[in-house]
Amino acid sequence: MADPLRSRSTPGRVLVALLGVVALMGCAPGPATPPTLPSATAGPGVPSSPSPPNHADLTRLLDRLAATDDEPGWRALIDSVDPHFATTSLWLRDNLAGLDLRLEPGSRIRALTAQRQELLGTEAFVQEVRARWSVPGTAPAEHTLWLTLTPGARGLRLAGITDGPCPTDAGSGPLPIWWLESVRIIRQGEVAVLAARSQDPDAWLPGLVQAREAVARRVPTTEPLVAQLPSTAGGFERVLGVRQGSHRLVAAAAWPFGDAAQLVVNPEAGGATQGEARQVLLTHEAVHVAAGSVRGQGPLWLTEGYADLVALADHPAVAAAHEANLADDQRRHGIADALVTNAELRPDNARVHAHYQRAWITVRVLDHGPDSRPAPGGGVADRVHAAVLTGTPLDDALAAEGWSTGTLTEAVSAELRRLVG
Ligand SMILES: [Zn+2]
Repeated sequence: MADPLRSRSTPGRVLVALLGVVALMGCAPGPATPPTLPSATAGPGVPSSPSPPNHADLTRLLDRLAATDDEPGWRALIDSVDPHFATTSLWLRDNLAGLDLRLEPGSRIRALTAQRQELLGTEAFVQEVRARWSVPGTAPAEHTLWLTLTPGARGLRLAGITDGPCPTDAGSGPLPIWWLESVRIIRQGEVAVLAARSQDPDAWLPGLVQAREAVARRVPTTEPLVAQLPSTAGGFERVLGVRQGSHRLVAAAAWPFGDAAQLVVNPEAGGATQGEARQVLLTHEAVHVAAGSVRGQGPLWLTEGYADLVALADHPAVAAAHEANLADDQRRHGIADALVTNAELRPDNARVHAHYQRAWITVRVLDHGPDSRPAPGGGVADRVHAAVLTGTPLDDALAAEGWSTGTLTEAVSAELRRLVG
């Protein structure tokens, strides 16, 4: 979850002003076309409708790209007629060497722009490829990539990686940081970071390790936390696969990439949160990653409130500030007499901070049990959260712990009255 509202600023309003900002990463607008008939070789073809390549040729190239990290072997796979890509291919090789990677052909191909065809030849085309990858020892993530390929005497070669859909196109989606820029891959304990060369991972690693440890105390997980740290806010948005300019003020996001979820950090939003508030944010997002609550199952008050319950446990000063802010909100607007709705947690809601804080209080009350004291063995919120995420209806999950939505709502109102004083 992106949680743009975690910033103290007013993201909704500022984001509108940023919508015109587009990162000018090379991209070629144009529709993807499904292949029609397989051909033995990629023929000259009509520029606007590329022929699909021979499947065996393509599979062989993809297998070699995924497995080759020696320089001579790699060079044989690269068409470096585009001098920019000749440079790109060097860091791409280094990036791939640090990953477990499998590449499989997708079904779509795209035509190049006339300008790119002039450079790469009329037989060049852009192939959809499915990538399944991981930092060794972590959960595999999945992405759709677009590879610019040229046929030659010794088979297909890779000639570019920037001719896929523009970020604004319908066919666009998330891209892994290692497809966008040169990265260092760092592993410390149960945290793996893919960091852009321009970034200082030491500025983030301790916080990520601390977040992973805080999460592990309550969320059963054996998976290491994987974080991507791009060099720019534009790169952050390419990694998420969101419209350029739409997430400039999001400091960090927990995001699904196939079956895996990872944490993505926006290096340019670092000023939005500092110190303890940033640590709370990282832990909050790490809860979403570990619990798998990035896919939106269950009511938001439960997933968001639970993430804050875990994140705020080690930060009493931040928790006290949240209580004070919520008490002020309830004094002004009256004590809430219903559970927090999904609409109240939307980033453009005027009272979104207070509603997040009310979701946290709701889960804190839930965690203490219907008798206002921790249930024997504890873990009430953990069990309800886990049950709802795996498909148990909320009412059933609450009933198993002695709650109903009615009794929980009343208990939360009582707690809010206590906070208001
Ligand atoms: Zn969240």
